[in-house]
Amino acid sequence: MKLCRFADNRLGLVEGHVVKDVTAIHNRLPAARYPLPRHDTFIAALPGLRGYIEGMAINAEAIPLENLALLSPAANPGKIVAAPVNYKKHLEEVIGDPALHHGVQIKQIQEIGLFLKAPSSLVGASSPVRLRFPERRTDHEIELAVVIGKRASQVSKAEALDHVAGYAIGLDMTLRGPEERSLRKSIDSYTVMGPWMVTADEFGDPADAGLHLQVNGETRQQANTKDLILSVADLIAFASSFYTLEPGDVILSGTPEGVAQVHPGDVMTATIDRIGTMTVRVEAG
Ligand code: MN
Repeated sequence: MKLCRFADNRLGLVEGHVVKDVTAIHNRLPAARYPLPRHDTFIAALPGLRGYIEGMAINAEAIPLENLALLSPAANPGKIVAAPVNYKKHLEEVIGDPALHHGVQIKQIQEIGLFLKAPSSLVGASSPVRLRFPERRTDHEIELAVVIGKRASQVSKAEALDHVAGYAIGLDMTLRGPEERSLRKSIDSYTVMGPWMVTADEFGDPADAGLHLQVNGETRQQANTKDLILSVADLIAFASSFYTLEPGDVILSGTPEGVAQVHPGDVMTATIDRIGTMTVRVEAG
């Protein structure tokens, strides 16, 4: 099942080139009262809603995908957890280029662990990335994004994937410089997720998915998640050993080699096997 969010917080079931509007399913969610829960109530309830969504879609209007403004499929994650330097060839390119490591960022993930991106940085595929500091370098990073479906605290690697709701394409946009990652990568619009979420059952094995990023039609990054240093299951076990992962939280699993600068006017086309393709514009801030 592919689920998208679009327009004014509407929910869609993606079927080929059309979307069925199933927003009314939100009426089945538990009423939320102050203080709002830390988790995403729709993602948490999704296992019990799938039959209703499929039933509702049968008679729903089919809207062409090309006409829709896509929002992030994870509406409001409490945490966006991200994995730094999680592909060997990316580690090698970072070590070899002072413009990437700035003398401080040269260790791999087992030594430096994870970092958090501000949820306010998150946008969907139809929103441009806006370069906030035009005099500085901003790079693209394509990553497999994981949406947590079930609360995970201190889970083992063997149990980890049972806690995943689905997967999406992620762009971890990165301002280069010596500051902490959590600052440089948390600028508004510097996390893109989309074009939709593919549920875990449909996506299959996260340890074998090809990733491909083009800028203006030219290939910049091409890799496969089988080359991750820490797998998706490793990342969930690692993250949940420090903090509780809630439904709707997002894990960005790390970017492969080929990171490079983007400029205003560029168009990024990001593809991950079994998810699809999203096209994201780059604009001046
Ligand atoms: Mn990254």
